[in-house]
Amino acid sequence: MAAATSPTSTKLDVEAVRRDFPILQREVYDRPLVYLDNAASTQKPRAVIDAVATFYETTNANIHRGVHRLSQEATDQFEDAREAMRDFLGATKVEEIVFTRGTTEGINLVAMSYGRANVGAGDEILITHMEHHSNIVPWQLLCEQTGAQLVVAPINDDGEIDMDAFASLVSERTKIVSVGHVSNALGTINPIAEIGRLAHEVGAVLVVDGAQGCPHGAVDVQALGADFYACSGHKMYGPTGVGVLYGRHDLLEAMPPYQGGGEMIRTVTFEKSTYAPSPAKFEAGTPNIAGGVGLGAAARYLQSIGLEAIERHEAELLAYGTERLAEVDGLRMVGTARRKAGVMGFVMDCAHPHDIGTILDREAVAVRTGHHCAQPVMDRFGVPATSRASLGIYNTREEIDALVDALQQVREVFGG
Ligand code: PMP
Repeated sequence: MAAATSPTSTKLDVEAVRRDFPILQREVYDRPLVYLDNAASTQKPRAVIDAVATFYETTNANIHRGVHRLSQEATDQFEDAREAMRDFLGATKVEEIVFTRGTTEGINLVAMSYGRANVGAGDEILITHMEHHSNIVPWQLLCEQTGAQLVVAPINDDGEIDMDAFASLVSERTKIVSVGHVSNALGTINPIAEIGRLAHEVGAVLVVDGAQGCPHGAVDVQALGADFYACSGHKMYGPTGVGVLYGRHDLLEAMPPYQGGGEMIRTVTFEKSTYAPSPAKFEAGTPNIAGGVGLGAAARYLQSIGLEAIERHEAELLAYGTERLAEVDGLRMVGTARRKAGVMGFVMDCAHPHDIGTILDREAVAVRTGHHCAQPVMDRFGVPATSRASLGIYNTREEIDALVDALQQVREVFGG
């Protein structure tokens, strides 16, 4: 792994970072790839690719139940990755880190386990208007099953939570507050610690959808006041199909299992089964072992670069990108919050987002177009879809320039 910066240094060496990512060497339509779809999924550094390949080449075996050497080594590596994620999220105990398939499964786990045990008819679950479908639908399912109500806090025209309205919606009926750390459609960084204080004042738990929080800066679940924090490996330069859920230890211990199967039990008879303590209680079946090992490598890779340096790099790039996009006639940004991560969603008066995406693709610029699994956000801003350029640690000013040049071509093609 290249030492792109030391954790304490102030500036990220983007050229060194780029050398860590083999895919950035490839071309698309005979041009260098400009990858600006990081909010959907990030590329993988050599450190992660090697960790996964080495695991399969040297260690592969099922974990936790083998006495043979490979199984013990595989178990050690998987548990070491759990420790890496504990450290990455600032949790106190490894028992608080549950391996999942990703953010979606983490939120469903909380809804179906904590939610079904603690929420009843007349109770309320509070979310916001900017949530990803993964932080809406699990709560709707819980409401259908329990008779609880889903309450949605409004957002303003910049895409920020209206905190006065939010505070007025928190009451003794509120049992769960679930909010995205960073909006994938708008880029807004939400005031999680303040939201946590409001939730805790009424005895509610705070669930944080951290899918877009983890990759962009330092996360400290304790400072945030998160009772649960869900994230996905593939959004933080790790493998797909793996993620973690942080849960406060006392809460996890009191929660019923989410799925039944091997690994999560203490004893099984046909009359009754008893369950292992957390996190095993929530990890039924064989997990994505190599993925977990790769996720641990991703967390350590990001730490080796320095989360503050990453945050600063992306903030500078966002400022530059916002300025440059303003030069494109007829382009309107959707999401103009004061505190924003590197997500630039926009619409153009001359072309539909899908046409924009297609023209950009021919220029080797990869962006996402659509509703970004946040249809209520699109409704709030009165657009069917947006185009979204989202930044990662390897992006450069030159790539922003390539995006803007390609957008000028969109104007030419559609005669704007
Ligand atoms: N929440 C947010 C804010 C997201 O951006 C995403 C992924 N687009 C998710 C949740 C779901 O993540 P995953 O598909 O990895 O489970």
